[in-house]
Amino acid sequence: MNREITNSIVITGLRKSYERSPGSDAAYAIDGISFDVPKGQFVTLLGPSGCGKTTTLRCIAGLEHATEGRIEMGGEVVFDAQEKRHIKPEERPIAMVPQSYGIWPHMRVVDNAAFPMRHGRHRRKGPEVRQRALEMLEQVGLAGMADRWATQLSGGQQQRLALARALLGDPEVLLLDEPLSNLDAKLRAKLRQELRSFQEQFGVTSLYVTHDQAEALAMSDTVVVMNKGRVEQIDRPERLYDYPRSSFVADFIGSANLFPVRDASPGRGGAVLAKTDIGPVLCARSAPGQDVQSHNGGFVCVRPEDVEVRPGGTGATPAENEFAAVVESSEFLGDRLELVVRSAGIPITVSTRASLRCHQGMEVLVRLDSTSTSHLAS
Ligand code: ADP
Ligand code: MG
Repeated sequence: MNREITNSIVITGLRKSYERSPGSDAAYAIDGISFDVPKGQFVTLLGPSGCGKTTTLRCIAGLEHATEGRIEMGGEVVFDAQEKRHIKPEERPIAMVPQSYGIWPHMRVVDNAAFPMRHGRHRRKGPEVRQRALEMLEQVGLAGMADRWATQLSGGQQQRLALARALLGDPEVLLLDEPLSNLDAKLRAKLRQELRSFQEQFGVTSLYVTHDQAEALAMSDTVVVMNKGRVEQIDRPERLYDYPRSSFVADFIGSANLFPVRDASPGRGGAVLAKTDIGPVLCARSAPGQDVQSHNGGFVCVRPEDVEVRPGGTGATPAENEFAAVVESSEFLGDRLELVVRSAGIPITVSTRASLRCHQGMEVLVRLDSTSTSHLAS
């Protein structure tokens, strides 16, 4: 199907270099990024600080000119480096919620909210503007606060006001750059649920930026994982967690045990037999299209909750994917037990609900469940 019909935003081969500052080794802040934002979906750009998320968002908003590439929005080309096409930010069908909310302190709450209706793409006048703003304020939980000064709102309330204002611009796409990062942890968790339910309620397509993997997993239909200006993987949250394509994604999302692979060969039942420093590991998962023969190297990846532990010591014979290890530390965390065991000098993190009595120095056998163990090419 045509990418333009089902997508609100289509990004193709976007690159951006800033004036290079002395000592900076990265030539591109973003380096050949392509992804789609399907209509009505909540898509998140996730990656560590400095990986190019804000730059991507600012290029989409038209606040930066990309060096190469193309941006389409609602079927229209709003940017094309080659054809030197650049539609002005105010003419793009978007609204941006910046990290700092961008609330005007000299305006009352209702006037902040009504701003895009009075000054935006589709200008309106008269009493219905205030009426519409009041309705929206009520919908985001700010009923009765319309005539306060914007500075009299708490952080969470300012966040909601910024959202109300963005929505009143009637955007095709809402762009949100780390909108919860200035709030404390508890409020952040509450507001992320709220934001998601507003998004569903208004059916507005959203492109969200965060460095917080929990936030990305909890809120998104699709996550675009970025690293050093490039896209590492685009997937649904569950797929990203269960089928990471690289050690970077595995490590950034959740926690992962990663064992370097010295040599890989085809194993039983289509699995990969990977030789690692703890021994040969059978991995049933590998990235689609990955050719085993050509991917010696890479990593075995197993989540802490996919490692089983049982008492070992003399007399215990390791089964397939099972290795003798010694308990190095054991932490009781209420809902689970977190262990670090060492096998052939390599630490392995284990998360278990087993009521196994563990103590430091205890000999155990750890089993890596082959059905949830991956062989990653890089
Ligand atoms: P993120 O939002 O993921 O933290 P940014 O997009 O802000 O990342 O930055 C990506 C890279 O581009 C970083 O290396 C940053 O230092 C650089 N960068 C961002 N803005 C500018 C600028 N105005 N001038 C020069 N370099 C910049
Ligand atoms: Mg940023």
